[in-house]
Amino acid sequence: MLFNHPEFDNHEHLSFFCDAETGLKAIVAIHNTSRGPALGGCRMFPYANDEEALRDVLRLSRGMTYKSALANLDLGGGKSVIIGDPRQHKTEALLEAMGRHLESLGGRYIGAEDSGTSVPDLKIMGRHTQHVAGITDHIAFNGKPSNGDPSPTTAYGTFVGLQAAVRHKLGRGDLTGLKVAVQGLGNVGFRLAQHLKEAGAELWVTDIHQDNLQRAVDELGATAVAPEEILTLPVDVLAPCAMGAILNDRSIPTIKAAVIAGAANNLLDRPEHDAALKERGILYAPDFAINAGGIIDVFYERSGATPQTVRQHVETIGDTLTEIFRRSDESGTPTGAIANQLAEERFKKHAAASAPAPERATGTH
Ligand code: NAD
Repeated sequence: MLFNHPEFDNHEHLSFFCDAETGLKAIVAIHNTSRGPALGGCRMFPYANDEEALRDVLRLSRGMTYKSALANLDLGGGKSVIIGDPRQHKTEALLEAMGRHLESLGGRYIGAEDSGTSVPDLKIMGRHTQHVAGITDHIAFNGKPSNGDPSPTTAYGTFVGLQAAVRHKLGRGDLTGLKVAVQGLGNVGFRLAQHLKEAGAELWVTDIHQDNLQRAVDELGATAVAPEEILTLPVDVLAPCAMGAILNDRSIPTIKAAVIAGAANNLLDRPEHDAALKERGILYAPDFAINAGGIIDVFYERSGATPQTVRQHVETIGDTLTEIFRRSDESGTPTGAIANQLAEERFKKHAAASAPAPERATGTH
């Protein structure tokens, strides 16, 4: 079952790569290239079976088309998965084999870091291909040196988006005294908490790793809470920055925050949870709109833009969200569905604009 797979959604190209010598088993999915080459992370995960890996890569790849279009980037959507446990099966030879496979795709797909792969891993793939990103030392949007890790830019974009959501829902531009709960204090969550602290917000935080939690208490004066408490705190904003599917049948009725604005991917457990949040009067900043800072960073790393250009583009995340919130209010449609519509407008318009003119397409000589 492939072309009629429930997640297939007219993918342009799929490739399955097996390298017996290194044990590499990988799938590369290219969903849509109407705006440009498909850029997306290369995930390494111990999938229970091939079907699980296929489903994941198809969903993630489609998501990248939407994320990049919504961020107005000249990029399409794609993703790759390597089937295996990164702690056991990741070898230099395997990563090199993956690099050779990416090279064979001729640049239609560009790989980047994702869960289970890191900057050094992508650099190893890069020995055999130029079609990897997020690996070049450069000056980031904030004027600081970067090794290619997009997390600081993701955190800043999430902060900008959170501000737009607060302005829309709570009518305030100043975050002083705003109560925010941050779930997950990793690469993105901790930096988001830093931005919020600098802006005067009051923080409640959680993480499953005690050292991450303690650092936020010590450095940011945050109040630590247990992981099971974070979603139900009486705060203004909930910022989920850990894992997906946390907005579900069980959690939604118990959430007290007026705004949900965080970086984690695939926050909605099922599509209908978008409407469930709207019915409860909670303003949800769609994940793939608010967390686009990372893909913006990686895009500009390849074209060598100035830090100011990157910062300005990241700040458009606030405008895009404001547009989504406005359309949602006007139409009564939940914000996630509006974000999908807006993304489709952006990649379909591009496809139409870049299609060959009829006389050139059918012309004879
Ligand atoms: P990370 O692994 O550095 O951080 C995640 C943190 O969440 C870790 O500190 C982990 O201990 C914590 N955590 C895990 N389960 C938890 C739980 N049940 N309760 C509380 N804390 C828990 O990852 P990251 O790079 O910071 O990314 C965070 C999220 O944002 C992910 O969903 C990721 O897909 C998404 N995202 C990240 C980027 C980026 O640039 N890094 C870009 C777009 C989206």
